[in-house]
Amino acid sequence: MFPIVIVSPVFTKLVSIFIDVYAITLFPFIISKEEMDENTLNHEKIHIAQQKELFVVFFYLLYAYYFIESYYFFRDTHTSYMMIPFEREAYEYDNDLEYLAKRKRFKWLDFR
Ligand SMILES: [Zn+2]
Repeated sequence: MFPIVIVSPVFTKLVSIFIDVYAITLFPFIISKEEMDENTLNHEKIHIAQQKELFVVFFYLLYAYYFIESYYFFRDTHTSYMMIPFEREAYEYDNDLEYLAKRKRFKWLDFR
């Protein structure tokens, strides 16, 4: 079964350093605080697609880069998180359950 979904409130609590993490995607795992609704699962699956096209490691490097870049301007962790292109793409399309079937590669580039 891919991706591998794990429910672990302990893990999500541990990684809630900058923001309160409800679910996190660490390819090939999706770890969530509790059972996810279909839109949240879709959101995390969009991150799986982004991570795959960036060989996982470049996703995390860019994710950190975009967060820090936004934080430099906004000085607010929630705003900085919401400005990350990967999050903007995922939030834009997570309620469209057909999205991943038609998604264009590197779509997150449109959200920079
Ligand atoms: Zn996200």
